[in-house]
Amino acid sequence: MARIIGGLAVSHTPTIGFAVDHDKQQEAAWAPIFQSFEPIRTWLQANQPDVLFYIFNDHVTSFFFDHYSAFTLGVDDHYGVADEGGNPRDLPAVGGHAALSRHIGQSLMADEFDMSFFRDKPLDHGFFSPMSALLPCAEGWPVQIVPLQVGVLQLPIPTARRCYKLGQALRRAIESYPEDLKVAIVATGGVSHQVHGERCGFNNPDWDAQFIELLVNDPQQLTEMTLAEYATLGGMEGAEVITWLIMRGALSATVERKHQSYYLPSMTGIATLLLENLDQGVPAPVSERHRQHMQHQLAGIEQLTGTYPYTLERSAQGYRLNKFLHRLIEPQWRERFLAEPEALYEEAGLDEAERDLLRRRDWRGLIHHGVIFFVLEKLGAVLGVSNLDIYAAMRGQSLDDFMKTRNQQVRYSVAGKASR
Ligand code: FE
Repeated sequence: MARIIGGLAVSHTPTIGFAVDHDKQQEAAWAPIFQSFEPIRTWLQANQPDVLFYIFNDHVTSFFFDHYSAFTLGVDDHYGVADEGGNPRDLPAVGGHAALSRHIGQSLMADEFDMSFFRDKPLDHGFFSPMSALLPCAEGWPVQIVPLQVGVLQLPIPTARRCYKLGQALRRAIESYPEDLKVAIVATGGVSHQVHGERCGFNNPDWDAQFIELLVNDPQQLTEMTLAEYATLGGMEGAEVITWLIMRGALSATVERKHQSYYLPSMTGIATLLLENLDQGVPAPVSERHRQHMQHQLAGIEQLTGTYPYTLERSAQGYRLNKFLHRLIEPQWRERFLAEPEALYEEAGLDEAERDLLRRRDWRGLIHHGVIFFVLEKLGAVLGVSNLDIYAAMRGQSLDDFMKTRNQQVRYSVAGKASR
């Protein structure tokens, strides 16, 4: 079974990444940051977690306001470095434990947390700034990750209480994963700072110390606080520190504090904290019951022949082809698809099986492959094939035979007026 070996929290200011990239670890202004990270580096090296469950917030880099979500779980098998305006940092992509991500996603949804899921998105300094100070990466990162992006920039955002409860659900999720994995929970962000408006530059070291004391010993108290109270005490952007409650919620009620430090060089209090659980994992029957609870909504669905629930597994399997077909919503892409399909297959890196399915317009085979129907109807619109033709083909019937099963003999597609 997977088990949580500890929780750590670190600030994620871009200064940390800057200091790493410019070899400033030994300079007087920067050295305290790295000294404060050192015990955590040593702990990571000694304990060798297989996976870091890594809680961070993006800074309007990969997650913009055209679709902003509260709790977004990465389900990819690798994550690259984002370009935040001056080219990406020279760091390798980090591997993702996609199977654990899917398990956690399913578990959290079963526990009524309405998650979003992401892939194909690079991560910004919220993730890589502390990551590059915690672990060596010259020969590739020594761990896999499961990233959780928390949307804390556009209000309304989750409450402190919701973050803590998510952490408690996260513990159930991780401890019910059947593979033997050592998982450490990483929280990043905070502590006190404000980077906008006339109050810009606000800090409150006393509150930072009090917050960490409460986080370790009495986290329930922190769940009672409003966002305005967090902003009053720790600055508006400092309120992102509520994400530390996710980490704390995933640990046992009592914890041992292995390391703590604080340094305020410029705009943001840079705090580090390392906690270990003081209890054992949950008894095996409890985990087994939780796994059954996770399966409850889909129990029996395998008996529906000719039905392919679009799970995260299917989504991962069909992603490349779905992405290719989704781009048919772009006029230029569909023009090129009609004019030079083979060149487009090549450009999109489709494998031979995927190309073959498209060449043969194998609607049923595409579904089996993991393609979702709603990009097939886009393909139909581009090709001048009606939805009814696609339905008939998926059932292995002629259009006429399929039409006989409908009340009205109508044909339609999602194509607009100017299409073929
Ligand atoms: Fe931040």
